[in-house]
Amino acid sequence: MIVLGIESTAHTFGVGIVDEEGNILADERVVLRPKEGGILPREAAKLFSEEGGKAIKRALERAGIGMEDLDGVAFAIGPGLGPSLRTGAVAARYLSLRFGKTLVGVNHGVAHIEIGKLLTDTRDPLVVYLSGANTQIIAFEKGRYRIFGETLDMGLGNFIDSFARALGIPFPGGPKVEELARKGKNLIDLPYTVKGSDLAFSGLLTAAIKALERHPPEDVAFSVQEIAFAMVTEVTERALAHTEKEEVLLVGGVAANKRLQEMMRTMAEERGAETFVVPFKYAADNGVMIAWTGLLALKSGMRTSPLEPVNPRFRVDQAELPWLTGKGFKPSNLS
Ligand code: AMP
Ligand code: MG
Repeated sequence: MIVLGIESTAHTFGVGIVDEEGNILADERVVLRPKEGGILPREAAKLFSEEGGKAIKRALERAGIGMEDLDGVAFAIGPGLGPSLRTGAVAARYLSLRFGKTLVGVNHGVAHIEIGKLLTDTRDPLVVYLSGANTQIIAFEKGRYRIFGETLDMGLGNFIDSFARALGIPFPGGPKVEELARKGKNLIDLPYTVKGSDLAFSGLLTAAIKALERHPPEDVAFSVQEIAFAMVTEVTERALAHTEKEEVLLVGGVAANKRLQEMMRTMAEERGAETFVVPFKYAADNGVMIAWTGLLALKSGMRTSPLEPVNPRFRVDQAELPWLTGKGFKPSNLS
């Protein structure tokens, strides 16, 4: 089976093509890079509708196949920004109807998890999903990916990017803040906000920006990382104790951070669990993760009507996972 997947939930229009062994046949991306500030949904949608068709063509060329060779078309049906989501959905519905291909809509968060599992060979991990907009601790329990803790305000990535902006570092600020933090030595007292199993970053952000008036930026960057990552590690440890999983899988852009990886590894090791990190290239939004999750779904008999609307608020714990709950297809890395 060969599936083409389209990602368009936020800043990236991605087209991926995969086969059922998990081979990546194509990975094309069109990325909106705002000169300043955040993503304007309408700008993203404009870029995607201008460039999306060409990206699909390039992906087919790269894979060396034609539309007739595809067994299905997948797209990210949510969560995300409405205007962005709709451009990908329109393209996928068109391909499905015009070429008679089975259509399936997949959850974007589930796709981050499934591509992470495929590329790290993990079977049943506790997933720490740390992207710009999302911060969630997730594990498969009783037929669903359940959320064991999450941010109550902003995502960890957005938090770091906002702090970086106060230092004049452009988006994405994560890598530069990490570099700066390596030069810091003094831990500054900043608010640590864990509420039960959930997290909040806005108080820490305000205090960190204020601390820049009195402390060197490298010490503030160091403290910001130590405190924010300790918060995430604490709720991950709680989820690990509860779920008793033996693998911890870090996904999303912030997973690239070496200090975060080190803190997670130390914590997980003490609990007898091993830590895995999604390869950096596939931590960011991409079409391959949609194609792979679509393939799992299609193999298990899932179908989506072209009339089904996108769902900007589709939570990961609402997604059906027939490839994990059913008796049908199991990908080779799970069998
Ligand atoms: P995503 O939303 O998954 O595409 O990830 C993008 C986010 O990851 C942005 O907020 C980046 O600042 C953040 N990021 C990327 N590299 C790093 C890093 N080394 N340390 C911390 N955050 C990072
Ligand atoms: Mg994402």
